[in-house]
Amino acid sequence: MSAPDSASFRRLIAWCFGPCIPAWAVLAGLVVFADLDRTAAAAGGVIVFAMMAVLVFSRLADFDRLIRYAEESLLNPDAPLPELSGSATARRLLTAIAALRKLWTERREAAAGLARSGQDVLDALPDPLILIDRRRRIISANTAAGELFDMDRTAQRLAGRDLASVIRDPKVLEAADLALQQRRKGTTQFTLPSPVEHTFGALVAPLPAINADGTAAIVALYDQTERLKTDRMRADFVANASHELRTPLAAVLGFIETLQGPAKDDAEAREQFLDIMLKQANRMTRLIDDLLSLSRIELREHTRPTEPVDVEAVIRSTVELFERQAEERRTTVTITIAPDVPAVAGDVGELGQVFHNLLGNAIKYGGDDGKVEITVTLSNYRPPAMQGRGPCLRIDIKDSGEGIPREHLPRLTERFYRIDTARSRQLGGTGLGLAIVKHIVNRHRGAMTIDSEIGKGSVFTVFLPPASPGAAAMRAAS
Ligand code: ADP
Repeated sequence: MSAPDSASFRRLIAWCFGPCIPAWAVLAGLVVFADLDRTAAAAGGVIVFAMMAVLVFSRLADFDRLIRYAEESLLNPDAPLPELSGSATARRLLTAIAALRKLWTERREAAAGLARSGQDVLDALPDPLILIDRRRRIISANTAAGELFDMDRTAQRLAGRDLASVIRDPKVLEAADLALQQRRKGTTQFTLPSPVEHTFGALVAPLPAINADGTAAIVALYDQTERLKTDRMRADFVANASHELRTPLAAVLGFIETLQGPAKDDAEAREQFLDIMLKQANRMTRLIDDLLSLSRIELREHTRPTEPVDVEAVIRSTVELFERQAEERRTTVTITIAPDVPAVAGDVGELGQVFHNLLGNAIKYGGDDGKVEITVTLSNYRPPAMQGRGPCLRIDIKDSGEGIPREHLPRLTERFYRIDTARSRQLGGTGLGLAIVKHIVNRHRGAMTIDSEIGKGSVFTVFLPPASPGAAAMRAAS
C-alpha cells in the first residue's frame, strides 16, 4: 500500500474536519446550554476527530489513491493500478476508471491509426499534395510533393516552410492567398525549370473547416508536361501533314492550269506534265496511305497481337517484293536465319510492313551497288525499352550506305523527321516509315534500336517477343 504524500495527507485531514463539525456543534451546545464541563467537551471533540481520522484514513484513503491514479492516467496511459485496502465502492470505482482508461486508449489509438492511414492514402497518390495553414505555411505534404521539391525526397522536411519558398510562382501564391483570405478555389499553371522543365497545373482550394492541426487549404499539383507535349505534337503533326500534301497538290494544280492555258496544244509538254502529275499524285497517295496506316496502328497499339507469325516467311516475301528495286540499284540482299528460330506473337500484316519499311530504307539510302544483310537470331539480350524477360527474336537489317550522324539517331522515329527532306522526297519517302515501324514494334511489345557509323552504314535492329516464351527459352539454352 503506498503512503499518502503531503498533498493527499492535507486532503485527508481536511476531509476529517467536515464530518466532525456536527459533533463539535453538539458538544459546544452542551457546554453552553447544559453546563457540560469544557474539558470533557474538548476531550470529546478530540476523540470525535481521532475516530473520524481513523475512519477517513481507512476508508477515504482508497478514494484518494483513485484520485491520484486518475490524475496520473491523464499523463501516462500505462500508470500502474493502485492497491486498495478493501472498500467495495472504491474497488467498483477503480474498475470503472480502468475500463474508461482502456476505452480512451483504444479510441486514441484508433484516431492515431486513422490519421496515419489518411497520410498513407495521401502518400499513395501519384500527384503532389501540400496542406497549408492560415499563414500559408506548409503543415504537411505527401511523398510525391517531397520528391518533387525536396532534395532529400522527404515530405516531412517541407513542413513549417512558407509555400513561397517551395513554389516561387506568383500565380500560385496569389491563388493560395485568395483561397486563404476569401475562401475561393482557384486553378493556375506554372513551370518548374529544374531538374527537367515540367509544367504543372495547380488547384488551390480552401478546406471547408480549418482542421485541428490548423490546415486551412490544400494545394494539389498535376503534371501537364506530357499532355502539353502531346497537344503540341498533334498540332505540329496536322501542320506537317497539311504541308506535305499541299506541296504536291500545288504542283498538280499548277500543271493543270498550264495545260488548260499556255500549253494547251503542246503535245510534248502535255506528256511531260502528265508524267510529273502522276508522280505527284502517287506521292500524295503514299502519304495518305502512310497516314492511314499510322492512325490505324495507333488505335490498336494497346491491344497486343497474339497470332504466331513465322518471321522467316514474312522476311522472304518482303525481299521478293523488293527484287526489282534492288536490281535497279545493283544492291544485293542476303538473308541469314539461325536454325530453329521460334515464331513470334504478332500480326502478319503489320510485321510485313515493318520489314517493308526497313528494307525499303536500306535499299533507298544504301546507295547504288549496296549490300543489305538481314540476320535473324534468337537473342538472350533484351534492350531496356522492352518489357518481360527471357530470349527474344532479333532481326538486324544492315546496309552499306553513308550512315546517319549520331545526333539524328534519337529523333529518326518522329513523324516527318528526315535528315535530308529533299533527298527523302526525291526517293519517294514520306517521312513516316520509321514512325510506323516504331508503333508496330511497340504494339508487339518489342523494341527497335538504331546503330550507324558514318561511311560504313546503318543497322536497324528489331527485337520481338517469341510466341511461346517457354519453348524459346529451351531453344536458347540448347
Ligand atoms: P522516309 O520516308 O523519309 O524514308 P522514314 O521515316 O522511313 O522516312 O525515315 C526517316 C529518315 O531517316 C529518312 O528521311 C532518312 O533521312 C533516315 N533514314 C532511314 N533509314 C535510313 C537508312 N537505312 N540509312 C540512312 N538514313 C536512313
